[in-house]
Amino acid sequence: MDEADFPVVVGEVYPLISSYSVMKSTTLLSLIACIVILLSACANETPSVDRDVIAYTGATMINGLDRPAIENSVLIVENGMLTEAGARDQIDIPAIAEVVDLTDSYVMPGIINAHGHVGMADGLETGEDVFTSENIRRQLLTYAQYGVTTVVSLGDGQTEGARIRDEMLFDQNINIARYYLAGPVISADTPEEGREEVQRLHEAGMDWIKIRIDSGLGTREKMQPEVYRAIAEEAARLEIPSAAHIVELEDAIGAIEAGFDLIAHSIRDQEVSDELINLMRDNAIPITPTLTREVSTYIYRDRPDFFDDPFFLRTADPQVLEQLESPESQQRFAESEAGAYFEQQLPLAMENMMKLYDAGVIVAMGTDSGPPARFQGYFEHMEMEMMQDAGMTPHAVIMASTSLAAVAMGLDHLTGSLQAGLAADFIVLSEDPTEDIRNLRSIKAVYVMGNEVRMPE
Ligand SMILES: [Zn+2]
Repeated sequence: MDEADFPVVVGEVYPLISSYSVMKSTTLLSLIACIVILLSACANETPSVDRDVIAYTGATMINGLDRPAIENSVLIVENGMLTEAGARDQIDIPAIAEVVDLTDSYVMPGIINAHGHVGMADGLETGEDVFTSENIRRQLLTYAQYGVTTVVSLGDGQTEGARIRDEMLFDQNINIARYYLAGPVISADTPEEGREEVQRLHEAGMDWIKIRIDSGLGTREKMQPEVYRAIAEEAARLEIPSAAHIVELEDAIGAIEAGFDLIAHSIRDQEVSDELINLMRDNAIPITPTLTREVSTYIYRDRPDFFDDPFFLRTADPQVLEQLESPESQQRFAESEAGAYFEQQLPLAMENMMKLYDAGVIVAMGTDSGPPARFQGYFEHMEMEMMQDAGMTPHAVIMASTSLAAVAMGLDHLTGSLQAGLAADFIVLSEDPTEDIRNLRSIKAVYVMGNEVRMPE
């Protein structure tokens, strides 16, 4: 598979508050979030949109932050927002509240995929025709059915997604994953072209912009530094966060020095250097490792084991599996030079993720799911399992997939942890995910803005 099929984002312009508290105070994201919060506050005085007050009691709460779990917790949800989240004995449950008993369960924030792609593919088909509201909403439902309640789509076919995003952001009944998008990945040959593209995407209401600094393993020309520097500068001027897809160490360093705000993939050509580690840590630049992206380049040479996994099969399209199992498809994967390269480099990508993590760089869970054969929802679980296999503790993986992913994407004022004042985006599990991240598969229910997500039949 060609790298070019897969948009990625890097870079952003957040004023730094502290290394783990990064915010973009003036972006559209925040404005929209504030409006949503205001709307829900107003809803208290508007009986027609008022909703029940619900208290979820008795679960062990993992709040997504670097804090111990709370046994026998209470979450109070009002108009889609959390008004309380804490220990049962410290919270008064309003008399009018409906009580939902979650004894013997675990609650945690909804998972955030900081690097996905929405509406890019329909099965194995790609192209403008599949970028429809229906396809986008169907994919956001699939994500949500796996507990992924927010997806930042880092590179899309078109800017039209902004309209769909806005419809959902203002919808109190949202019951699919929250959706943010970067629009088309910027390709520009000159600094002027680059600036114009940033302006166009900014005007179209994109939440992020994204570029690719990648020679496609030597098959095409890399974007030149003067071009991506102009793009980063323009993005900073317009206060739109910017992401950089890279493969190689020198390009990650170049992107950060230029001012990009997110590194969208692991470094895959060599070991990360102290220079990169220091640049990322000191500037609070997060990385989305996208380990499953590498897996998707080679795993379909043969029939993958997960084709028999019930957790996968509950949403998989049998026709797509049949196509991927065909001898012609397997042959194409077997002959892919990119597949051979990325398979070989995957252990290094995992080691580099751990080096950055150990040095205090923000690792935000991101998969690059959404292009053909990168299965939305399931790949996020595979990614988190690979992060754990690489050496992160389950607790660290949970933080990377919730509060830190929210910080990385500038969404921590809205979602990513269980705290009063944030949206009621949460998952109910029957097993403890802090014991083993694989327990995240034990999903009993998923809520977005307090609305329960319809599970696959
Ligand atoms: Zn991507």
